[in-house]
Amino acid sequence: MKQISHIIGGEVVTDGTTAPVFNPATGRQSADVLLGGEEIVERAVDVATNAHADWAALPPAKRASVMYALREIMRARADEIAETISAEHGKTHDDALGEVTRALEVVEFASSAPQLLKGDFSREVAGGVDTYAERQPLGVVAGITPFNFPFMVPLWMIPMALACGNTFVLKPSEKDPSSANLIHDLFTEAGLPPGVLNVVHGAKDAVDAILDHKDITAISFVGSTPIAEYVYARGCASGKRVQALGGAKNHMVVLPDADLDQAADALMGAGFGSAGERCMAISVAVPVGEETADRLVEKLAPRVRAMKVGPATDNEVEMGPLINAPHRDRVARLIDRGEKEGAKVVVDGRGLALQGYEDGYWLGGTLLDHVRPGMSVYDEEIFGPVLSVVRAGDYGDAVELIHNNPYANGTAIFTRDGDAARNFASRIKVGMVGVNVPIPVPVGYHSFGGWKRSSFGAHGIYGPEAVHFYTRLKTVTMRWPTGIRTGADFKFPTMGS
Ligand code: NAD
Repeated sequence: MKQISHIIGGEVVTDGTTAPVFNPATGRQSADVLLGGEEIVERAVDVATNAHADWAALPPAKRASVMYALREIMRARADEIAETISAEHGKTHDDALGEVTRALEVVEFASSAPQLLKGDFSREVAGGVDTYAERQPLGVVAGITPFNFPFMVPLWMIPMALACGNTFVLKPSEKDPSSANLIHDLFTEAGLPPGVLNVVHGAKDAVDAILDHKDITAISFVGSTPIAEYVYARGCASGKRVQALGGAKNHMVVLPDADLDQAADALMGAGFGSAGERCMAISVAVPVGEETADRLVEKLAPRVRAMKVGPATDNEVEMGPLINAPHRDRVARLIDRGEKEGAKVVVDGRGLALQGYEDGYWLGGTLLDHVRPGMSVYDEEIFGPVLSVVRAGDYGDAVELIHNNPYANGTAIFTRDGDAARNFASRIKVGMVGVNVPIPVPVGYHSFGGWKRSSFGAHGIYGPEAVHFYTRLKTVTMRWPTGIRTGADFKFPTMGS
């Protein structure tokens, strides 16, 4: 059986208990992953601490040159990376290639770190006094990542953290851990010195050791809201800078004037792509008005029924399996409860079986109509291929529905009405908004981040916000001897002094 080990200081480390890793399409175990705890985290942090001084002392352009090399390697090996992702996650090959491309954007942006780290200079802030401000690295920083983007989410964090001069400890999801080791290998091939990036596998014990470690200065977390909140509270309590991105319930408002075919197509990709296991998936369609709702459901139902579900090895497939059996069963139970609570099951994905893949974690696309707040299918993040339709009486009701939801990661509006779109974009209390764009994940040179219970901490992830998160500001005020002696001055210094 393949063993997925920690990588510390460029060396494979095999201590710890193990947990099985599965191929979600076949349900068969594909590997054992080591589960580290306090001792492994301690080793990784020691190595990262020792590597820090040399790495931070390099000219920013030298650090950025690793990102340039990484970009070329990722482009050349994109298919192989996508296969690694799909084998443990289950998403289709095309979808996994999209994940690689989005990760590339962040790598490309990190290549411009020398420009982003330039700082500010003010000459003559007082007589013979100049001031400059520079951003310095924090030291050893850590990333804790979820299963649903095993390649992209670690790369939301690592490129900019390293380009800013930090060293890194990554704790990926134990459900699909191979991508993390592949990321390490790609960086090594790109010229990253040993110890600058370290991978520690594990679950709660490893996370807790990271949260409490005195030499880790900052933590980036992406995962579910309860764990994000826990990581934020415990990490901050131990004096760290923490950004913790959590779960979501993303609504797409469809106004009566929208092109409903375009809206239905958009909902298919945004609701069922990656089996709905995306924090920016649209899980709630909000048609405005009964007529819009009836027409939209009529257009969606045949599309959901026709969706091709299967393993990532089949190029025709549009949607893969869920990550594991407990998650698949949880999603199916939520559909059961939704039905009991009064939702209409228009298309039912429960009980889907695929010939030759009988033990895979399948669930077909499911369309629920007449869903309302208070039903568990609405109140909980499902994270599966289930699209709920919540009918809104008017535009104001749609906005109120979104505002009453505790999550605020992404949202979208489909309309041809410029006034309505502009009003929605400025008024809605959600971090990322799409206008006729169903999954408004910002490009790599903007930053990603939700509001409310979708994100804890002050900074968005990747993009310009990452430069601020992974550095601290130092401001230097300097005067060189001018030969004029003014004597001791005990009043608070001002511009004139
Ligand atoms: P998760 O919260 O279960 O796990 C995330 C990380 O936390 C993993 O590394 C895991 O090992 C660790 N972890 C799990 N339980 C823990 C515990 N009790 N104590 C300490 N650490 C623990 O999330 P997941 O199931 O891997 O990923 C899906 C979730 O992530 C969804 O809620 C999704 O919305 C969210 N997500 C959010 C974003 C975003 O940008 N906001 C992006 C991707 C995924």
